[in-house]
Amino acid sequence: MKEALFYTSQHDIVYCQLCPKACRISPGKVGNCFVRENRDGKLFTAVYNRVSSIHIDPIEKKPLFHFYPGKQILSIGGIGCNFHCSFCQNYAISQCKPADYYWLKDMTIGQIIEQASRIENNIGIAYTYNEPFMFYEFMLDISREARLHNLKNVVVSNGFVNEAPLQEILPYIDAFNIDLKAFNDLFYRKQVKGRLAPVLKTMETIAASGAHLEITFLIIPGMNDDLHEFEAMLSWIHEHLGENVPLHLSRYFPQYKMTQAATPEDTLMNFYRLARKKINHVFLGNVYTLDKANTYCPHCGYEIISRNRYQVKPDGLSGTGACLNCGEILPGIIR
Ligand code: SF4
Repeated sequence: MKEALFYTSQHDIVYCQLCPKACRISPGKVGNCFVRENRDGKLFTAVYNRVSSIHIDPIEKKPLFHFYPGKQILSIGGIGCNFHCSFCQNYAISQCKPADYYWLKDMTIGQIIEQASRIENNIGIAYTYNEPFMFYEFMLDISREARLHNLKNVVVSNGFVNEAPLQEILPYIDAFNIDLKAFNDLFYRKQVKGRLAPVLKTMETIAASGAHLEITFLIIPGMNDDLHEFEAMLSWIHEHLGENVPLHLSRYFPQYKMTQAATPEDTLMNFYRLARKKINHVFLGNVYTLDKANTYCPHCGYEIISRNRYQVKPDGLSGTGACLNCGEILPGIIR
């Protein structure tokens, strides 16, 4: 166990300040994420140096489509989450306690950096699978070390983190994919046990920092598929993050506690068409029949990057990030 960052204590009660849940934790108890524990009036993280999953993935799987397209990234996860979504796709690692998860493996920062450095075509390390801010201290230390080894750092997160810890780690993170679960605070409160405003704030802070940002929105039939609400989400993204932030509209499939049927293809296409009116780069994910995974030049419509599952060809993009057909510089595509 390592002492956690970002907390205060009074009379042996600790107050965690990592995320907006602001847990008040009595001695011997854990916070709402199950991985931060009060031991004798000090807050400890139970997931430092502990890894539940480690794989080499295509960067497109995060998903990041405009950040080193076609490259690979060593992806690691721990356990725990500050959200409790009934539709979680990784509930086995997100909704458990460290003692219940027997597959957690001890790994040092040196071992992770060494593994990332020796894999061919690997650009760096992605913190993903469960909510990576739950292993904040480990992620911060790995990302600092990774920078010294010329490795990129990528965070795939629900964005529910406080401003101070985010600011501390931002200088080391090159790219984020933030999961926007709905544009509705009631949905956040009821369905995931969070709040919308801090997630929006996180995305604004990332965009202002200059780190690469992409957004994923999982469309769940009957839960967050109101088109007026989606229009409001698009207007907010356009106004606060700009028209070039890539937006991944992802198909939901029944998972964990949810039995609701998968998102119909018609719904995905309706959302796609609406999104394209405001956002330049919109992609459909978790569906391979609709062919909406390519990047096109917003200026002339030329195909810049073609994708067939994880076969990626950035053949329409110059080395300086311009469209090879019209010469327009395409902001936000890093290769
Ligand atoms: S990180 Fe965990 S313990 Fe800390 S406030 Fe959030 S849910 Fe609570």
